Amino acid sequence: MAQQMFCIKCGKEAVSGTVFCEDCISKGEQLASAPGVVTFEICPSCGKVKSGSSWKEQSDLGKHMASELRRSVRLSGDASLKSLGIENLDPSENSSNVILAVSLVTHGIRKEERIAVRVRVEGNTCPTCNRRSGHYFESTIQLRSMGKTRDEVIGRVLSYATKLCEEYEKAEEGFFVSAIKATKGGVDITLSSNMVGAALAKKIAQKFGAEVVPTRKLYGRKNGKEVYRTTFLVRVAMFSPGDYIEYRNSQYLVAKATDMIELLPLKGGSPVRIKPSESSSLRFLGGRELEEWVEVVSDEHGQVLVVDPSTLEEVNVLCTRDHPRGSRMKVVRLGEELVETVSR
Ligand SMILES: [Zn+2]
Ligand SMILES: [Zn+2]
Repeated sequence: MAQQMFCIKCGKEAVSGTVFCEDCISKGEQLASAPGVVTFEICPSCGKVKSGSSWKEQSDLGKHMASELRRSVRLSGDASLKSLGIENLDPSENSSNVILAVSLVTHGIRKEERIAVRVRVEGNTCPTCNRRSGHYFESTIQLRSMGKTRDEVIGRVLSYATKLCEEYEKAEEGFFVSAIKATKGGVDITLSSNMVGAALAKKIAQKFGAEVVPTRKLYGRKNGKEVYRTTFLVRVAMFSPGDYIEYRNSQYLVAKATDMIELLPLKGGSPVRIKPSESSSLRFLGGRELEEWVEVVSDEHGQVLVVDPSTLEEVNVLCTRDHPRGSRMKVVRLGEELVETVSR
């Protein structure tokens, strides 16, 4: 049987497991503590708040500060926290004297304690905003055309790249686009990350019939490590699905222009697949503006006669399908000639 103990301070009956009575415990030494000063760093440019070693967006600054203050409270002995009130906290003040009203339990006895904490809010530019304002970059995507540049294709690639950049800026902490510059023969996009640069270059290549040529240059040293800048030369085929082109003296419709360019022959023969890198041997003839609807006058023995809307004369059209008299068909005007379109 445990021996009855008495309070070493006042001689009253002691709480089991301690050498003090209930009264002396609740009036006794402070069991909860917190740092005298708690500082919050907030980036004035982007509003992110430093949290540990990283910077995070906080939708509710007051809530964030309260939870950090709660985390800063330390308890000694067997004390456990029951509740915590935070008084005088004003996130809009640079400095405020906050009271933490701690309610804890020790050896089954409830105890209230109050801790004074000075809360400071400091403006500090985060590393991302710092780098952004210094036009920092690690990689460059050079968008260039294979063969003769067509502004509309470059424009399409650029708007796709810009959209991708925005998605990455939202998803990747610390990533930003440093600059987008039109240069002679294309566009340069400088990025704060090598890794994102590589991912973007790959995605553009897959979508637009392009090849990626990376080159790496030693840029400097950081913490004893060599730092490289990578340039991703993205050479884009200047063709889009729906374009009409000439390849080895035959005319084709571009059916696909991704990692392989697929060509459908206009005058019979087999489809052709070529690599984007070979696309400089293609000659652009035109897009949908070459297509016209014409009326079929007669179709005999594969000889289809139509009315050419520009001259109103009857002309022959090279066809692979039957076209009943009086029907309408879609043709492509290749120079003087009208050719039946192919289905994609
Ligand atoms: Zn006592
Ligand atoms: Zn910032």
